[in-house]
Amino acid sequence: MIHFNSGIEIEGVGFPLDSTRRHDFAFVSHAHSDHIASHKKIIATPETVLFFRKRYKRVLSHAVPLGHKTRIGNVDIELFSSGHILGAAQIMIHRQGAKIVYTGDFKLRPSATVHPIEIRKCDYLIMESTYGRPEYVFPDRDTSIELLLGFIKSARVSGYTPMILGYSLGKAQEALKIIGDAGYPAAVHQSVYEMAVLYQKCGVKFGEFERLDPQTCSDKVIIAPPMSRTNSELRQLRRVRSCMLTGWGVGKIPRWSGADAVVPLSDHADFNDLVSYVERAEPKRVFTIHGFEEFAEHLRKRGFDAVYLGKGESASLSAPPTHFSPRKRTSNIDLFE
Ligand SMILES: [Zn+2]
Repeated sequence: MIHFNSGIEIEGVGFPLDSTRRHDFAFVSHAHSDHIASHKKIIATPETVLFFRKRYKRVLSHAVPLGHKTRIGNVDIELFSSGHILGAAQIMIHRQGAKIVYTGDFKLRPSATVHPIEIRKCDYLIMESTYGRPEYVFPDRDTSIELLLGFIKSARVSGYTPMILGYSLGKAQEALKIIGDAGYPAAVHQSVYEMAVLYQKCGVKFGEFERLDPQTCSDKVIIAPPMSRTNSELRQLRRVRSCMLTGWGVGKIPRWSGADAVVPLSDHADFNDLVSYVERAEPKRVFTIHGFEEFAEHLRKRGFDAVYLGKGESASLSAPPTHFSPRKRTSNIDLFE
């Protein structure tokens, strides 16, 4: 059985995956706050352990680098890149002769700061499906970068300071790398700065950047997390134009973004990449979590045995899911996309 609630639990596997409830021992795919809790001990990549300790300093760790195998209790596991943020890992669990893969958050597109994703063939696939609707098809990466640099250029030409909004772990460092490689100096919010320093410790090289100082940042590109715009230091800034980096901005500026512009640069797979992942992994059965319930139906139409697993629901690896009650979900905005 597989159970999804505050995280994923698999019968016969002695630890939960990405639980947001405290456990003695848990697998953490990456350190975004919607995948972690104050666990006593975690199994994760060394990079994720580093980011995790920023929030939970005393956590014990069993660090497993990407591409490595180990035995935990009675199961063999392997961690391999999910391409989501630095150190983000998928886990393959070998259980009773079957290969079970849990993706965590993932993207297929290349990145300037993250190891490329690996897709492995498996028997059972538990996958996120954040953008599991056909309307969510992103432009290619080069186009998104062109849009971002075009926004920066036009803001500066008009006498405004460009402010790029992206969450502080992952998206902001990707933006910092792109902006630095294009030759722009950056002034970054404290939370972005702290994570950028950790990225540097992991070997990522950035262009010129400094901690945001409202008095001296007008000739730089500001990078800040979306929630920080209400901070008093950012409220002091005048003549600023903001651009949010989010996959929810395909073809439109979501009203909740509050930004002047949106560029669809995401750390998640778009609809086509979600489908492509499943085609390449060739699982016997797929369990979709997060995102749109209808994505499982899209997979079934393509011939895959797929079920959506909502919060509080369980499913057998081979039989139809129990407690399965389809619900219409109209919106599922995930700010860590
Ligand atoms: Zn994430």
